[in-house]
Amino acid sequence: MDTTLPRKRSFAEKFKSFFSGSKKAAFNGEFFDDCCDALIEGDIGPKTALGLIEAVQKNAGRFQSEQDVLLALKSLLVTLVRPVDFVVEPGKTTVFLVLGVNGAGKTTTIAKLAGKYRAAGLDPVIAASDTFRAAAIDQLKIHGERLGVRVVAHQNGADPGAVIFDAAAAVAARGGGLVLADTAGRLHNKENLLRELQKIDRICASKADEGRYKKILVIDATTGQNAFRQAETFHQALGVDGLVLTKWDSTSKGGALFPIGKELGIPVFRVCFGEGYDDIAPFDPEAYADEFLGLSG
Ligand code: GDP
Repeated sequence: MDTTLPRKRSFAEKFKSFFSGSKKAAFNGEFFDDCCDALIEGDIGPKTALGLIEAVQKNAGRFQSEQDVLLALKSLLVTLVRPVDFVVEPGKTTVFLVLGVNGAGKTTTIAKLAGKYRAAGLDPVIAASDTFRAAAIDQLKIHGERLGVRVVAHQNGADPGAVIFDAAAAVAARGGGLVLADTAGRLHNKENLLRELQKIDRICASKADEGRYKKILVIDATTGQNAFRQAETFHQALGVDGLVLTKWDSTSKGGALFPIGKELGIPVFRVCFGEGYDDIAPFDPEAYADEFLGLSG
């Protein structure tokens, strides 16, 4: 899959503004304070931003140009995030449990993944297991029809575990395959939601083949620092194997993956940048850092 991402402008434009006007910025304390602010405004949390700037500032004497500063930042940023891919093999039962708060982009991401795995010759089954939202069930059925992918659904209000159970049975009956399971995301009812998810977690673990159950958290790039808190909450409760960052196209910021990578160490599975089925790509740390810093041209 292509890993090209749309351009990101926020940090780059702010950074360039330090150099515009009559006075060229000196690489002094004030300059690095401004850099730190620009990183924070780009959704890199204050703690991570400060750590980065302190590290970069140590080399201030060696910087000849603004490009040198950007490259120094980039070399640190790429160490904070790492990609992950999950192998899906015919003949094995793989379960992707897709987690995230409502509106993050779970349904859309499931459809995109279903389309990609189907195009790759695998035959995924979608489990419409957010049974709290009739709209989510209907939406997945529509995607399934469009994509030619089977959707296992029960009535609104049914036991989500039972839906996943049936989807896994459908896959097992074919001799293996991929289950893409949706989940509820009512984080305002956090305790109940997390308890419910832990129950589902046990069912998924029992249905997937060894090492083939992956918990994928969808986070919305437009939610800034909230994305970090969501990652922390889900990771503590369930252990997240990989992230999908959605709506990269809808924000001029988008640096949230850096503090999540640094503090929580969760790798990144995919980045989504639009509502179309093809607006999804494997995560490329270099491309992500380049786009964030505006280094890509
Ligand atoms: P869910 O509640 O987590 O299942 O979220 P949905 O999949 O329903 O997505 C919520 C909204 O975000 C919908 O309007 C989607 O079309 C939109 N959406 C999802 N992913 C992306 C993306 O990568 N870019 C953009 N621009 N919109 C997205």
